[in-house]
Amino acid sequence: MADSPVVDSLDGRFVLPADALVLLIGISGSGKSTFASRHFRPTQVLSSDALRALITDDPAAQSATEDAFDLLHRILTMRLLRGRLTIVDATNVEEWTRIELIAVARRHRRPAVAIILDLPLAIALERNATRDAPRPPPSALRRQHRLLSDSLHSIADEGFAAMHVLRSAAEIDGARIERMAR
Ligand code: GDP
Ligand code: MG
Repeated sequence: MADSPVVDSLDGRFVLPADALVLLIGISGSGKSTFASRHFRPTQVLSSDALRALITDDPAAQSATEDAFDLLHRILTMRLLRGRLTIVDATNVEEWTRIELIAVARRHRRPAVAIILDLPLAIALERNATRDAPRPPPSALRRQHRLLSDSLHSIADEGFAAMHVLRSAAEIDGARIERMAR
């Protein structure tokens, strides 16, 4: 992308195209699922944990990850064909996972938007520790955090139409999302 897609919004408001693919990007415990349920309808959210659970009854079943993402991509394709706003609730910290999703959006001529929940690692670790089991081990969060930190400088060049970075619990709480008319 030639233009930097980073959108800094002073008052926490940002506008989403009504037919966008929105990638939530953040480590486990950064608040992606909470953010998704606060701002979007349940039917708009494709969650890798929820799809693993649909397949195996266990949202943490890593053995079902490939099938869960297969399903996620298929449903995503069906929604983008119809121009339905769709949110992907997965960590999305690995570049190749983002590239694959952006390619699906591009194939259907829909804008891809990144919402990055770049919460400090210490806070995510703290929140993760108080969650019900099964929860990922702290080492997994540290690994995800390293991957995200390493990508932050280059995500703007991956092909997103817009990118919103929320860097603290206050910024995440203060986010206000508006829909752009199609
Ligand atoms: P995800 O792993 O990124 O999907 O994170 P979740 O949305 O599941 O949140 C992880 C944990 O942090 C859960 O126990 C949430 O209840 C808690 N949490 C999420 N958002 C907030 C928040 O804004 N404030 C506080 N205090 N806790 C939060
Ligand atoms: Mg979650």
